[in-house]
Amino acid sequence: MAAASINFPRSPSTIRVRMIDTTARMTVRAESFVEPVQPGHEILNLSAVAFLLEHEPSGRKVMFDLGVRKDYWNYAAILQKRIGTVIPSLRVDKGVPEILEDKGIDLGSISSVIWSHYHWDHVGNMALFPTATEIVVGPGFKIAPQLLPGFPQKVDSPLLVSDFEGRELREIDFTKSNLQMGGFKAYDFFGDGSFYLLDTPGHCIGHMCGLARTTSANDGGTFLLLGGDICHFVGDIRPNVTYPLPDTIPADVLDHDPPYFPLPCPCSLFTDHHPQLSDDASSHERQRTPFYKVSTHSASAYVDPRAAQHSVDKLLDFEQSSNVMVCLAHDEALLKHLPALNENPGLDLNDWQSRGWKDKTRWDWLNELPRNGKPGRKSIVEGFWRDGKPWDRSKEQMQQKGEKAVEEAKQDKTQ
Ligand SMILES: [Zn+2]
Repeated sequence: MAAASINFPRSPSTIRVRMIDTTARMTVRAESFVEPVQPGHEILNLSAVAFLLEHEPSGRKVMFDLGVRKDYWNYAAILQKRIGTVIPSLRVDKGVPEILEDKGIDLGSISSVIWSHYHWDHVGNMALFPTATEIVVGPGFKIAPQLLPGFPQKVDSPLLVSDFEGRELREIDFTKSNLQMGGFKAYDFFGDGSFYLLDTPGHCIGHMCGLARTTSANDGGTFLLLGGDICHFVGDIRPNVTYPLPDTIPADVLDHDPPYFPLPCPCSLFTDHHPQLSDDASSHERQRTPFYKVSTHSASAYVDPRAAQHSVDKLLDFEQSSNVMVCLAHDEALLKHLPALNENPGLDLNDWQSRGWKDKTRWDWLNELPRNGKPGRKSIVEGFWRDGKPWDRSKEQMQQKGEKAVEEAKQDKTQ
């Protein structure tokens, strides 16, 4: 199947894109995210990036996602139950608001925070932003029964009342524009073609991707697709027809500590165990078919796995366009190979194409896969961390439960 070419509207306007390492590191159960799960790859490693966008003509700065709040134990009660079961380990050293301020970026200069979606690992801590900073969300958010006005007023909401207090909450209405790109409904955020939001359903209510024009040229320019969680693992879109897995895996993309890989490393080390294909599939096909689909498991992280896969199928066309680089929020390769504001505040991603970053980041995910019957890359974080130290969360919860039980017993006696 050849890649469909996407008709991008032309514009001379671009937007400056800088990447932030949100410092969140977590592990999740693979069965909720990808299928089929391979033995030795039962746990996915997830880091998380966010993006600072600067629109020079208007002087506006916008954040696309915020990662995890540093004090994640202060998230809504319903999330405290999930962290520890669905999420076996988590560490956050510094919140995005803190990172911005450290680099001299005043939170008051951020006019909007766009949430790709409302999940805890993307919404950060909005209460740290002045109320003049609006929150931008995708379709269906405001009428979703489980979200507003947030915890504690709504006891089972994963969001907090403090996210919204005194603040504009803007929901994008994609039906008001006829703009479409690559099969997704699109919204021109600044009205000048520099930055679009794309309606990318499937993971959860109102999921959106960003599409930032990084350079403008006669051929329509270059774009970064800010993927959020349209999917969680790049093996959902790689390899593909346009970018097949090379016969020999480039040595510089493979981890050599510990030295798992033979050098040169034939791609058959991975393609012989292609999780989507049966034994009679040709090596040609194995090198050109994405390894995974989104999870349809009963515990899938995708509320509508069919719609999510449909969005991922369309994403594949963006991935296969040479003028687009897809940046999923949880793709660790981005942190390995691209400059982040944390260390390189002056560097943006706008010249990604001339720097060859799309090629450089393409195959890092292979390191996560099992090979020769051994598990892939080790966990990026073990257990829970608080303030830079390991934190025995279960012990603390047991203590709290114990104290609560004692308290209840006392009350029983007094009643
Ligand atoms: Zn996420």
